[in-house]
Amino acid sequence: MSRYWSPIVSKLRPYVAGEQPRIPGLIKLNTNENPYGPSPRALEAIGQAADDRLRLYPDPTATELRETIAHRFGLAADEVFVGNGSDEVLAHSFQALLKHELPLLYPDVSYPFYPAYSLLYDVETVEVPVDDRFRILLADYDRPCGAILIPNPNAPTGIGLPLAEIETLVTTHPDAVVAIDEAYVDFGAESAVPLISEYPNLLVIQTLSKSRSLAGLRVGFALGQRHLIEALVRVKDSFNSYPLDRLAQAAATAAIKDEAWFETCRRKLVASRDALVRDLETLDFEVLPSQANFIFARHESRPGAALQAALRERGVLVRHFAKPRISEFLRISIGTDEECARLVSALKDILAA
Ligand code: PMP
Repeated sequence: MSRYWSPIVSKLRPYVAGEQPRIPGLIKLNTNENPYGPSPRALEAIGQAADDRLRLYPDPTATELRETIAHRFGLAADEVFVGNGSDEVLAHSFQALLKHELPLLYPDVSYPFYPAYSLLYDVETVEVPVDDRFRILLADYDRPCGAILIPNPNAPTGIGLPLAEIETLVTTHPDAVVAIDEAYVDFGAESAVPLISEYPNLLVIQTLSKSRSLAGLRVGFALGQRHLIEALVRVKDSFNSYPLDRLAQAAATAAIKDEAWFETCRRKLVASRDALVRDLETLDFEVLPSQANFIFARHESRPGAALQAALRERGVLVRHFAKPRISEFLRISIGTDEECARLVSALKDILAA
């Protein structure tokens, strides 16, 4: 606390990012990064873009990237908004589309950035409880609201919401923006993008950090009808007219075009996830059904915090949230098969002690 702080700063509860270790050799399964590395074409594109042109400002509208994303999803370029990671796209969405007189609804077990942004932008919210099996129940959203924000699949649970249910939410709340945070959608959930042309109140947010292995590049995007995208652009242009640097625009464009690389990594990851679930179940873990590149699991007798600490001692990082309802769980990102094997062997060692 300082007397020099603005009144809002003392109220903030900033998001605490997962550990990015400096010690080499740790198995890093704590921040849902992709273990397979980005498309080689994205790396080549960075090489080609890294020249004297860096003295020039980048394209403020990221037109080539937006056109490439639009083409990939069967939309027009003005139905695409890009930003510095989907975190920034979410931040702009809070200001541009999710803040109204009636509250914003989102699940009580979801991405911790939602409450952080709500405080920062002074958005009134209702955190809607997930049920005792951590599912989002549509009936609970049947209440007056200004907007709804749903991660699909949900994080940190990994549970997906079927497209028909998303469509019901969108149709039953025609006056509210329904934003679907699809950070992890490529690992098995159903994307709401095909609904965009039909529904003027649907915004879909995705990222290149997960299925395209570019968390370090910081590129995310939103898809929706023109009037929604225009609101995001107005906020962006009032904040920072150059959201993405030259290298990020070039690499992201190349990554989106490399469908083959995306598909191969995605398949490998889903197969590793399913194998890891089976291994953990034999070690007496309950694993929530995951459609993401991570799983959320609790052991029948060992507390989450103790397991996380014991794994760290053995060189394996996983995520634990010291929060009501979910403190028994570990969130484990899916690594390579070798990394998953190291995790399982560390767990066997811990559980045998
Ligand atoms: N949404 C959810 C649900 C997430 O878990 C994350 C990753 N932490 C993000 C959005 C943001 O991802 P990024 O900013 O890397 O695009």
